[in-house]
Amino acid sequence: MTNERPHILVTGSTRGIGAAILETLDGRAVVMGHGSADADLSDPAGAERLWETALQRLDGRIDVLINNAGVFEPVAVDAPLDDWHAGWARTMQINLQASADLCRRAILHWRERGCGGRIVNIASRAAYRGDSPAHWHYAASKAGMVGMTKSIARGFAAEGILAFAVCPGFTMTGMAEDYLASRGGDKLLADIPLGRVADPAEVANAATYLALDAPASMTGAVIDINGASFVR
Ligand code: NAD
Repeated sequence: MTNERPHILVTGSTRGIGAAILETLDGRAVVMGHGSADADLSDPAGAERLWETALQRLDGRIDVLINNAGVFEPVAVDAPLDDWHAGWARTMQINLQASADLCRRAILHWRERGCGGRIVNIASRAAYRGDSPAHWHYAASKAGMVGMTKSIARGFAAEGILAFAVCPGFTMTGMAEDYLASRGGDKLLADIPLGRVADPAEVANAATYLALDAPASMTGAVIDINGASFVR
């Protein structure tokens, strides 16, 4: 990274954790945010389009990629096979494949520029703990994200390319609110020793630290933010 303010692409920043990341980065970086209305990551070509747009808007230079966009959509084990496949494919496409496509473009971009860069992937506690009976695909997509992050960290560290993952537990965004309401908030809170779900600002602080300040030797690290609801 140069001494200039870093240029950062943050996906899924229209609300929730992504919006909090934008707020935390304010003044410290030149940031391009994104939401599904800008580039739909359920479209296999969406990530490529987003990268091209981001490069244009950020004057041809992106130093940090934060993959935050994601969906948490149920698919029941007894759903018809076509619906089951569609649910898996959509979650894998948005949560994992689009993130992978953006990581790929970021690495190629840094190679072309002959410089390093940073990737921060927002995964989930579900990567390690698993999730509900209707969310295997979500847990699998986030476990995939963690495996991808570690592979990038190991494979590209020598080129100055650093990769980190953040694994939030329940975080008070629209995504969590729906889930807490559907499953009985009290029971879920009882499972969190800290006694509350995470605040989006807590996740944003960790992501910002990894994006801007974390020492290079931390590459490959996965940061848990879950109130000790899953300690590994
Ligand atoms: P949210 O639903 O509030 O926001 C999701 C963001 O992703 C939005 O900006 C939305 O526009 C974008 N997005 C969704 N589908 C998209 C698509 N098809 N194309 C492009 N963009 C799309 O979610 P959140 O709770 O802020 O979660 C952010 C990230 O954190 C996600 O990856 C999520 O899996 C992860 N996470 C959240 C929690 C939680 O409890 N909230 C816990 C663990 C991990």
